[in-house]
Amino acid sequence: MRAAIELSRAGSVLVSGEIESERFRDGLGAGRIAVALSDEDEIGLHEQDTINAGDGLCRPEAVALVVEEGPKYITELIEWGTEFDRSGTKLAFTREAAHSRSRILHAHGDSTGREISRALLARAHTIAHLHLRAHAFTTELIVERGSVVGLCFIDETDGSEHELRAGAVLLATGGLGQIYRETTNPEVATGDGMAIAYEAGAVLSDMEFVQFHPTALAVKGAPRFLLSERCGAKAVCCAISA
Ligand SMILES: Cc1cc2nc3c(=O)[nH]c(=O)nc-3n(C[C@H](O)[C@H](O)[C@H](O)COP(=O)(O)OP(=O)(O)OC[C@H]3O[C@@H](n4cnc5c(N)ncnc54)[C@H](O)[C@@H]3O)c2cc1C
Repeated sequence: MRAAIELSRAGSVLVSGEIESERFRDGLGAGRIAVALSDEDEIGLHEQDTINAGDGLCRPEAVALVVEEGPKYITELIEWGTEFDRSGTKLAFTREAAHSRSRILHAHGDSTGREISRALLARAHTIAHLHLRAHAFTTELIVERGSVVGLCFIDETDGSEHELRAGAVLLATGGLGQIYRETTNPEVATGDGMAIAYEAGAVLSDMEFVQFHPTALAVKGAPRFLLSERCGAKAVCCAISA
């Protein structure tokens, strides 16, 4: 959604997907976001913490970009109406995981992804030439003379098939956790975008990076939803002491 807002500066944009549906909202698991914006923090420290946590796998220029541009885009999200949790009038930062400073923001507790998406959707609705087509399920890219010139989609409300031509196509279809039997990824993380891109001739990279959360609810027949590591550690301690 953020990319669509940016691209709308260049012309007419159509976002086709499961926008505003339950499945869209279900996909927004993100509970927190890190940014070096508190009085005690520095960009360099955030960068170093991230590199350390990456254990040699981070691309330094990518880390620098995300960490350095973070404050600008969090400020922008606030200007666009995202309600991050506050302590009085100031943003409330918590210290978590591998971060050496308090730099984690939450919105409405653990609903950070949902709140950011709400604000982005509201912003998108204000742009006249940014159109949203909900319940449009993309099935393939249209390739002509080696270039992507559009896509095919099914309207899930009536099953009708459509073709859409576009000057450029951006796939933002999320992860692929659902191809595994056990996953804490949302129902929408089906890897569609990767399969669609691959079929159109794209080269896929870094496929080994799939999120497997170490602690999850294991109840027969129920989705494996994520449990905090802290909760898992307590459960292990209880099991050992029992
Ligand atoms: C349990 C959990 C906790 C997380 N916690 C955090 C956190 O605290 N902080 C953080 O920053 N990140 C967190 N993440 C990661 C974060 O949620 C993802 O990185 C982020 O949502 C990815 O965004 P995305 O736009 O790439 O994909 P998604 O948010 O998955 O969006 C992809 C969209 O594409 C749609 N789509 C897929 N295929 C098609 C198709 N064929 N046609 C049409 N539409 C399609 C889907 O319906 C979905 O709406 C967490 C992830 C999980 C699973």
